[in-house]
Amino acid sequence: MSTTVTKTLQATFVPPTAHKQTKLNDLLETYRNGLQEAFDSGASTMSAVSDIVTPYDLPYQAKAALCNYVPKLRKTYNAQELDNEHPLRFTNQAAKFDHSDEREHEFTWWVPRPGRGTNFWIPLRINPEQEDLWHDLVSEDAKAGEIRLQKHRKNWVLHVTVEYPVEEPATDGDITYIGLDIGETALITGCALKDGSPTDPFVCSGSRAKHLRKEMHTTLKRLQERDASEWRTGERFDHYQNALADIVEKASREAVKYAKQFENPVLVMEDLTYIRERLDYGKYMNRRLHSWAFARLQGRIEDKATEVGISVEYVNPAYTSQTCHSCHRIGRRDSQAEFRCPHDDCHVSTFQADINASANIARRVDPWGESVPLDKVERDDSPRDGSGSDTATTHREQSETPSQMTLTAFQESEPSSSDD
Ligand SMILES: [Zn+2]
Repeated sequence: MSTTVTKTLQATFVPPTAHKQTKLNDLLETYRNGLQEAFDSGASTMSAVSDIVTPYDLPYQAKAALCNYVPKLRKTYNAQELDNEHPLRFTNQAAKFDHSDEREHEFTWWVPRPGRGTNFWIPLRINPEQEDLWHDLVSEDAKAGEIRLQKHRKNWVLHVTVEYPVEEPATDGDITYIGLDIGETALITGCALKDGSPTDPFVCSGSRAKHLRKEMHTTLKRLQERDASEWRTGERFDHYQNALADIVEKASREAVKYAKQFENPVLVMEDLTYIRERLDYGKYMNRRLHSWAFARLQGRIEDKATEVGISVEYVNPAYTSQTCHSCHRIGRRDSQAEFRCPHDDCHVSTFQADINASANIARRVDPWGESVPLDKVERDDSPRDGSGSDTATTHREQSETPSQMTLTAFQESEPSSSDD
């Protein structure tokens, strides 16, 4: 089974040459004039709009977009007057993109212009989070929809709507729960549970992210002490943010790849809204990742999992690192690396702490799974959205997953100084 998802890709033009800049400005002005005339005329059908915009010196993709858009302006949006800042719209016939990893900016767009032989390529700065989808767009695995080009004070921004198929999560067969513990020493520790036992754990090192974060903190602090220009500070901040975003991309890809090897995998992560309700959030995050990176990493794992039909569940994170995954009683985590179960009747004495935590996270989604035989449980009677008392599962609210950390947010935060 598959279903279709729509997303909007965003890219900024690499600053065009003066020559291209003029052509883009002309194109936008002509488009806005055509839009204004068609709107003012009260044309309410595609053919009426077409009669008006045909003489304009515009590429056919922009004229076709006007024919679609203008009738909707009055009918659907009930617009009384036009906003001055309308973006230039094109139909998906203008979705001609190219990719080469030999260029500094790997993706380019073939800007449509009126007349033969007048189009030109513009290099794009894409959002690195959307790189996979840009590749899908170039290879036509994803289908382009409308394209909008907006001129801002300092740059040109392109929006491309894309549709792509995703697999629907499997619902039958044996489910493998995979806990993901997100931390600082190990960025991600993944652990699948098979018959309640941790199986083939996966570790993605956090040393590079940690190093970058410290370096970023030192560099920015020094720049601020020296009263460096806002531009210079912002530029360094962007540099580190992009490097961290790359790490997040790679780590999330690895985690989903790990999950895919298991039968009917379901990813389980900690729901931090539980932590936010308590006052120790800052303390909790300090021994973890920066909260921005944490939220972003979870968000990217969820996106990538959804794309390949793997569902994601969130559980209450209380005591996941202090509980023994085997006997489920409280033990100790005296060091970052090691969990110790003090109970004599438990076969676990010490265990790698992050793997213990991720096994607990996986188990928590289905707390009955290992102690009650599956066939004796009326599994369908229990709501799985957190409203039942017999399940600890929740679906995370889609509220505050920052896609970008701001410089201000950074300045208000301090990196962890623990454990090294
Ligand atoms: Zn134990």
